Amino acid sequence: SPRVGVLALQGDVREHLRVLANLGADARPVRRTSELAEVEGLVLPGGESSVIDKLARAFDLFDPIRAAIADGLPVLGTCAGLILLADRIDGAIEGQRTFGGLDVRVQRNAFGSQTQSFETDLAVPVLGEPPVHAVFIRAPVVTETGPDATPLATLPDGRVVAVEQDNLLGLAFHPESTGETRFHARFLDRVRNRAGVSAPAL
Ligand code: GLN
Repeated sequence: SPRVGVLALQGDVREHLRVLANLGADARPVRRTSELAEVEGLVLPGGESSVIDKLARAFDLFDPIRAAIADGLPVLGTCAGLILLADRIDGAIEGQRTFGGLDVRVQRNAFGSQTQSFETDLAVPVLGEPPVHAVFIRAPVVTETGPDATPLATLPDGRVVAVEQDNLLGLAFHPESTGETRFHARFLDRVRNRAGVSAPAL
């Protein structure tokens, strides 16, 4: 079974570990570079992107994760995890950095104080039926999609909330907290496909 990690510095780590284990993966928390080196895919959870960024640097994980992504490691990022995957962010706190990899611009906390959280049924054509019951919690949106990234889902107002680029999948919402497993399954497919063709280069 695929060996995958969930970056476990802050955020909803346990929810992701549970979904991945239920799908048959060997899922473990990643807090050290040695643990990162053992996994064939990585989930960046929801939480607070600026805190995860700071902790990743404090734990000497920032550059190794960046390098692993650039090297093709499959990554699923949800909410804060989407922000951490974005090449460009608006609304960042002073000095906030991202691992990057997704050729997109995201706006942090895009729904403002009136709509901190909401739920909606979201059509995701690559997943088919039924639609995804999506929970947004102080969520970002994708405001620009570069030529290398593909939007997978948009809100009725046209704003992009899911994107994919090669082995990277970024979601503005939280499939890990609603019983939705199809995005995690898609991520595990990427992990299996990559593990089959080349050994992890870490
Ligand atoms: N607002 C958070 C951030 O900017 C993301 C919220 C979440 O992950 N639920 O990192």
